[in-house]
Formats: sequence, C-alpha cells, structure tokens
Amino acid sequence: MQTELAEFIRDTPEGREAESILRKCVHCGFCTATCPTYQVLGDDLDSPRGRIYLMKRALEGAPVTEKTRLHLDRCLTCRACETTCPSGVRYGRLVDIGRAVVEAKTARGPWDRLKRKLLALGLPNTAVFSFALSLGRLVRPLLPFKEKVLEKRAAGEWPAARHARKMAVLGGCVQPALAPSINAAAARVLDRVGISLIETPGCCGGVRFHLNYQDDGRDDMRRMIDAWWPMVERGEIEAIVMTASGCGATVRDYGHLLANDDRYREKAERIAAMTKDLSEIVPLDELQQISESGKVAFQSPCTLQHGQQIRGRVEARLMRAGYQLTPVNDAHLCCGSAGTYSLLHPDIAGELRERKLAALRAGGPDWIATANIGCLAHLQAGTTTPVRHWIELVDEALGRKMAA
Ligand code: SF4
Ligand code: SF4
Repeated sequence: MQTELAEFIRDTPEGREAESILRKCVHCGFCTATCPTYQVLGDDLDSPRGRIYLMKRALEGAPVTEKTRLHLDRCLTCRACETTCPSGVRYGRLVDIGRAVVEAKTARGPWDRLKRKLLALGLPNTAVFSFALSLGRLVRPLLPFKEKVLEKRAAGEWPAARHARKMAVLGGCVQPALAPSINAAAARVLDRVGISLIETPGCCGGVRFHLNYQDDGRDDMRRMIDAWWPMVERGEIEAIVMTASGCGATVRDYGHLLANDDRYREKAERIAAMTKDLSEIVPLDELQQISESGKVAFQSPCTLQHGQQIRGRVEARLMRAGYQLTPVNDAHLCCGSAGTYSLLHPDIAGELRERKLAALRAGGPDWIATANIGCLAHLQAGTTTPVRHWIELVDEALGRKMAA
C-alpha cells in the first residue's frame, strides 16, 4: 500500500517501521475472516484492514478523531490477523505505533482516563492488587463484577532449589494474587524432571504498555531486566520461564520494545532470547505416561498461538498426563479477555466469551484448561465448569499417579 507519512513521524524509528509494515498490506481483506471484533460488530473499521487504513491516515497527518481511537481501542491485539495475513503484515507492531500517535492527538473523557489510570496503577502492583482482591472477596456478593473475583487457591508446596539446572520464572502481577497455585505447580512438575524454578516477582510491563502508558510499561520492562540480569550474568539460570502466555508474548518482544534504548537494548535482546513458554520447557519424553485422567477442553490463548506462534505443545503434554482432549471449534478466536480489554469493553468481551465457552463446552469436558491467567479469570467468570491452568492439571495428574 502506497504511503506518504507526515513529517512529524517520517524520519523516526517508529515512522520507518510503520511505513515498512504499511507497504506490505495489499488490502486484500483475508484477515477480516479471523478478526473477532469484525465478527461481532460487522464494521470494516473494526477489522484489521479498516484499522490499518485508519492508522495509515493518522500517520499521514489526516485529522484524528475519537472515532479513530474507538476503533483502535476495540482491537483486542489478539494478532489472529497476523497468523492469517498472506503478506506477513506485522499488525501488532503497527497498532502499538498507531495507538501512541492517536492517543497523543486525542483527549479522553475524565471517566475513561480515570478507569485507565486506576488499572495502570493497580494491576501491575501485586500488593495493591492483592489488597483490592481481598476486599473484593469479602464483599463479593455486592460487587457488580462479582463473577470476576476468583476464589482463593492454595499454592501448595514449592520444592527447594536442589537441582543443578535452574530457571527463573516470572512472578507476574495479578497471577500471584489470583492463582499462586500456577507457578507452584510449574515448580513441582519441573522439579520432578530435574529443574529448579526460582521465582522473580514483578510485572512484565504488558499491562501498562497495552493500556497505552507505553513509557510506564517500558519502565516495568527495565525493572524486570534489572531483576533477572544478575542471575543471567552469573550464569545461574539457563532460561526464563513464562507461565502466563500474555507475559511471554511481551517479554519475548523486549528486544523490539527497547530497541531505541541504548542502555537496555542488548540486555533486552538477551532476556528475550532466553525467554520460553512453560510448554517449551516441560519435556514431553520425561513426563510419565498416564492412562486416564479426565476430559479437558483446551483454550489456546491468542498470546500463545498468535503472539508466540506456539501450537500443539500444551495439548501434547495434557494428553501425556492422561487427559482426553475434547474438540473445540474456532480455536483461533479470542475469548475476549485480552489483558484489561474485558474490563474496558465488557459488551464485546462478554459476547466473545459466550461464543468461546459454547465451543469449549461442546465436548462435555470435566475441565477447561488454558495457559494465561487473564483468560482463566475471564472464562471462569462465565461458567461453572472449572477453568484451570494446564500445568495445574498436569501436576495433579502426576500427583495422583504417585499417590496410587
Ligand atoms: S493485513 Fe494482510 S490479510 Fe489483511 S488486508 Fe492487509 S495484506 Fe490483506
Ligand atoms: S489484533 Fe485481533 S481484534 Fe485486532 S484487528 Fe487483528 S484480529 Fe482483529
């Protein structure tokens, strides 16, 4: 697509990157078929093709309105369009650039600003979020969003770091409060195969970055790099493990997101290269084969299948642990969680959740499994079928087998 970027951005790194992405788009519209917001809203401006057009116009200096921002806000950043696009358009990178430009050129209303500010301040801070969650659990029946307040899950034992092979695991921001059981289950499973996990508290930066507080998000990223770097320099850890695929997609992108930071560029690239999703670490061959554990419907988060392009690995590990996987239609579509999206766009997110849950429940599973805490909380809010992280199910199956 022919583009003539405006002077304010033309000779910047963002401008050059946006231009190279825009030039690849041939406006064919294949991506609309897999765009969840286009499927729900039916408006071309709520499709990747429409949003690319809006961003192109904004970057070319055309007037930007609240309507432009609304269509970009409504994008889940699920990146299903990237998986579908035959021309290799990196929509996710373009929308980061486009959103920053549109945000700077428009003014949000006071309520919208307040909501976003509260989310940006509260969610990445585990202590603040834990406190708010404890209060929420106390007054749960009175809350308008009570179904989002998950019951407390006990973490269980975290094995001592006894192995020569060690890896760091991101603590995360909301996950330790909502489900400390996830990282503990990962530590137990990896301990059985000879790897000790060391938890590093903190937020990957994705929450603030995707709320369009991009500078604050980058500060969170630098803090995480500073937390991991001494272990990396000492050669103590061989990998950095992500148990939430949303965080994994962000940390794997650190090299790109901090490319213009002379102090952190190289460290960011190294951290990104060392980062692995948990499903890339749990060795299939060393998992004990179990004959029968129950029926599971797996929801592959967008950040796993589109953001990190990881497919089939979780499913293989669940089957090795004895679970029968039930078929799930339209598995490429987003469940509507998308970080803070479900809180900011509850109608669209609710509709997408209903569609996703119908697909997940079709095979009559005993459990729904996922690989991301945001999806877990969002899906659980809409169903009585238990929703678990896949590693919790693997851990429990292995524990049952050992106890038998
Ligand atoms: S993003 Fe890709 S699939 Fe979508 S209109 Fe552009 S070239 Fe076609
Ligand atoms: S990222 Fe997802 S919601 Fe956004 S345009 Fe692409 S497919 Fe649609």
